[in-house]
Amino acid sequence: MPDYELELAGIGTVAVTEKRGMRSLRMRISPKGQVLVSVPPRVPHDYVEKFILDRRDWILDNLPKNQPVIINGGYFAGNVKLVIREGAVSRSRSAMMQSNLIIHLKGIYDPINKTQQEYIEKKILLAMNTLAERTLLPRLEELATRSDHKFNQAYVKPLISRWGSCDSNQNIILNTYLVQVPKILQDYVIYHELTHTKHMHHGKEFWSHMASLQPSYKLYRSMLKKYQTAIVMTENPSEP
Ligand SMILES: [Zn+2]
Repeated sequence: MPDYELELAGIGTVAVTEKRGMRSLRMRISPKGQVLVSVPPRVPHDYVEKFILDRRDWILDNLPKNQPVIINGGYFAGNVKLVIREGAVSRSRSAMMQSNLIIHLKGIYDPINKTQQEYIEKKILLAMNTLAERTLLPRLEELATRSDHKFNQAYVKPLISRWGSCDSNQNIILNTYLVQVPKILQDYVIYHELTHTKHMHHGKEFWSHMASLQPSYKLYRSMLKKYQTAIVMTENPSEP
């Protein structure tokens, strides 16, 4: 039995076991794909979290891959349909048409061709980025105006270990992968970053300001932990 568990964006639930006599932190992945960490007793949780996040690339490379990311005819960002067409073009190309992303491949669709999969993933991510710019940035403007907050510049970017950021010059970045989470949780992240324009650190004042903007923020904060910072496709259209 682990001593405690950590929920980390993009990695999932990590089981942490404290072991007497250990001098360093150790990590392994179980055959079922769970990340297991052993640590000396009383190592702060923050430290363990950082240890894991620093090794995220290794974890992602070593997790058993049981599900293809790309589903032809599947949906991403809630309701954008991926339509893959094959052959009869001199080079692969893609276009967004209404809520379809159409990818016309030069050759035959081959889910185990790595180069082709990477090409498709890149196009999906670009489409998500465009969608994020069209939806998240106007929403940020709207909520900032409504709640009387000011920021400098804002843009979207696919981030791995955080949903957004706000620097000391009040520049806000929102994570592209937010297009895959329900709108109420997008609002949580937006309010969170707007709160940072007034309080840099996650202190008492930060959270009481947050509560004044979104009284149920604690619920949203924990709901957000279920979502991944990676392309997630579904077989049917869904929220958001
Ligand atoms: Zn924060």
